[in-house]
Amino acid sequence: MRVDILRQQSPESAPYWETFEYDGPMDNSVAGVLDYINYHDDVVNADGKPSIRVGWDCSCMQGVCGACAMVINGTPALACETLIRGLKAVELRPLRKFPVIRDLLVDRASIHENLMRTNMYIGEYQPSTENDHAHQYAAAKCLKCGLCLEVCPNYVNGHTFYGAAFANDCYLVASRNRAKAKEIGAVYAAHFGRDCSKSLSCVDVCPMKIPTLASMAKLNRNKAR
Ligand code: SF4
Repeated sequence: MRVDILRQQSPESAPYWETFEYDGPMDNSVAGVLDYINYHDDVVNADGKPSIRVGWDCSCMQGVCGACAMVINGTPALACETLIRGLKAVELRPLRKFPVIRDLLVDRASIHENLMRTNMYIGEYQPSTENDHAHQYAAAKCLKCGLCLEVCPNYVNGHTFYGAAFANDCYLVASRNRAKAKEIGAVYAAHFGRDCSKSLSCVDVCPMKIPTLASMAKLNRNKAR
């Protein structure tokens, strides 16, 4: 199977395409394919020329950490959860909304920096009510993988719109810290509510199927009280 990878050796260098031939088992994931390519000491590309190992990020390899988020055949997805069975070719690119460190490895620090910048986690938390349990559990599954930001028409790295990962954490904190709910409402409006155009592609692409629209509705309802 042909594997095309958009490579980049450093943040400063120019990207280029390199093709590899994958002849391993087809009951594998894209993460498994990358492991296979990198496994040998002598990495060779599809032209038989010596190459170097492909840079990419992984940790759990079971869809729980979000580290292996990338663009696979044009669709943002987790490499460990994307199976290659039935595919004739695979094209891999790094996420486009974040600076490339090397190859498929990107710097997603801005997701956490944006969350920390709002200081919203600081304060006392009350026990959650039974009504909130189900949605709190769903929102807390966010991996901070960045796939929702990749497809978001409004998210630009370094700008003031922080995207779905931020909105879900706003709901989580506001639902457990009633004294801060108003303050969080203002932060949410400034960094999400005002600029979200409700394309909701973030919901379609989220590997944890987080119902971000419901988080938005619950935060808006708090604001209306
Ligand atoms: S909301 Fe979903 S897609 Fe976005 S960072 Fe969290 S887990 Fe990833």
